[in-house]
Formats: sequence, structure tokens, C-alpha cells
Amino acid sequence: MPTYSELANRPVLSQPVYEAGRPIEVVAREFGLDPASVIKLASNENPLGPSPKGLAAAQKALQVCHLYPDGGCTFLREKLASHWAMKPENFVVGNGSNEVMILLAQAFLRAGDEVVFGSQAFIVYKLATMLFGATPVEVPMPGYRHDLKALRAAVTDRTRLVFLASPNNPTGGTDDPKDIIALAESLPEHVIFCLDEAYAEYLDASADLRPLIASGRKVVVSRTFSKAYGLAGLRVGYMMGSAEVIGLLNRVRQPFNVNLPALAAAEAALDDTEFVQRTRQVNAAGLAQLAAGLSALGYEYIDGKANFLAAKIPDADAVFTRLQKAGVIVRPLRGYGMVGWLRLTVGTTAQNARLLAELAQR
Ligand SMILES: *Cc1c(COP(=O)(O)O)cnc(C)c1O
Repeated sequence: MPTYSELANRPVLSQPVYEAGRPIEVVAREFGLDPASVIKLASNENPLGPSPKGLAAAQKALQVCHLYPDGGCTFLREKLASHWAMKPENFVVGNGSNEVMILLAQAFLRAGDEVVFGSQAFIVYKLATMLFGATPVEVPMPGYRHDLKALRAAVTDRTRLVFLASPNNPTGGTDDPKDIIALAESLPEHVIFCLDEAYAEYLDASADLRPLIASGRKVVVSRTFSKAYGLAGLRVGYMMGSAEVIGLLNRVRQPFNVNLPALAAAEAALDDTEFVQRTRQVNAAGLAQLAAGLSALGYEYIDGKANFLAAKIPDADAVFTRLQKAGVIVRPLRGYGMVGWLRLTVGTTAQNARLLAELAQR
């Protein structure tokens, strides 16, 4: 009798497992702590909580959650169109931007295709690639920064997709918008370039790929409501691209992939510029606080502009556990091949101070 594994699609057997930040309740139970005393600086969530406008809209939407959501995401796509001065046909909405990247992979990848990204790029690119039997081509990142020339040089006739995040997670490094545009323009016609802008709201300037989309270049851009809008738990993200590519992704997705309160929250949060502005200010101050604190402790970190810092902490595994015992959850980067590194999400001033105080207990 064959086992389930023998019957499974081959790529499923070698599919790596995503290691998420540890949830507060799980850590509290494991270490016998009051969940209210535990802080999570492990998943780059917004320390200010959800966008108040988004939260109010989600609460209101729950009153009618006996209804299916609008599968076409009509109003959110119209709002995105006016926000970006594009058309609703240029947007597909997903259950987090993670889902839209999987949709992209599902629509375009098959065995034999290659997908190019950095060796310390966001792990979802590798997961999406392998899930559909395609081959990941991981380009070395000297000093944990993207080498855009090397990314370009890794492109072959078999390349179907190139992924780049700026800022990149988990390293935090950012690429110059001019260099990103030059890379996108340099790619051959059979390659789709996906720019992941999950943290773009934290930058002063991000790469505007809309002119390239308009000119027919094969580029798509993903964005999320999980970070600067504070809606990670509701799962909403989107991809921007030509009407043709978006039409294909819309065929692949489930009919009701984005739930009702999430859609309502995202529509309202898009207008919450005051909240995003406050988020940016708190983050900039927190980044400076963490950077100064790490320097004072003699720890190296990768300079960045996102809402987290990757810090080199030689006994990272032990520190990770010790911090959890003290009610502070961070993220080890061993899974990214960064042994001896921890990723620290920027929290509130008090949270950052608590993290630094715990790190100082050596
Ligand atoms: C957090 C993150 C995302 C967003 O994921 P969602 O599925 O939208 O929550 C996308 N890309 C990168 C690089 C991220 O760090």
C-alpha cells in the first residue's frame, strides 16, 4: 500500500517549512509568564497597534459577516487605483502579500524554470518557487546586501521570475530606487520582475515602477497592510501590474480569498495617513534608539530604514531563549544562514528600552 508521501506531488516532499515569530500566548505558556507581560518584537508588526480607522471599519463589518465578502474587492481596488493613479484592473488583492506572491508563482512557474533572488532574501520567494517545482537560484549577498549586478548576471533563458525586496527582510538593507529601476529595465522580455515593497512606507523614497508597467515592461509590485497599517492579523496585501498579468492572477486566486472585515479595514486604513505618519515617526525614533543601544553594547547591526534591525549577537541562540524567559520575543536568523544573528523589530520607546536592558544582562 503506498504511503501518503509516495502519493504526494514531488515538490511537496521537499518543501521547506516557514518558521514564524513565536506567538505571545505560546511563549507565555512555555515559560510560565503572564501573556500581558510579554512583548513580541519578532514579526515586524506595528507597535502602535492597528490603524484606528481600519479597526473601526473591521468591527463594523463583523456585523454582516454572515455575508460573503466582495470577491472582486471592488471598493478596495478602486481606492488603490485612485491612491496610485492607476486603474482597478491594475490590482489583485490577496490574503496578505504572501498570497499574491504564491499566485504569481502558481500562474507562471513549472519544473525547469528558475527563480532568481538573494541568498538572504525573504524566505517566501524560495517557498513559492519550490512549491511549484521550479529551481531557486540564490545569489550571494556580500555583507548581507543585495548585489543587483550579480542578480542580473544570474538570469538565464530559464529564468521566469526575479524577486527583490527593498528594504529586504530579514537583513533590512535597502537598494537605491535608481538601481532597482535600472535592474528592472535590464531584464529580458521573458522574465517577470517582482519588487516587494512590504516596508516602503518607512522609506523617504521608494522606486516608482508605474512608468515601467505603463510601458509594457514585465514588472509587478507587491505591497501589504501588515506593517505600516498595522493589520497583519487580518491578512491583506496586493499586487500592482499590467491589466494582463493581474487578470491572470485573478483567475488563479480563490473566489473569496480576502475576508470581509479585512477588506473593510484595508479600505479605511488606506485613508489613515495620520496613523501611517505617526508610525513612521515612532519607527524612526525607535530605530535610532535601538541602533544607539546596540552600538553601546558593542553589537554590530545592519544599517537599515525598515521597522527592524538585524543584529550580530554571537550567542544568539542562548540570548533568544534568555530573552523569551524575560518575556521578550525576537527572531533568530539561523534559518536564513545567519548564525549568530537576531532580528529585532522596532517597538515603542518602552519596549525598545526593555529589549536593550535584557540584551545588556550578559
Ligand atoms: C512582512 C513581509 C511581507 C508581508 O507579508 P504579508 O503576507 O502581506 O503579511 C512581504 N514581504 C516581506 C519582505 C515581508 O517582510
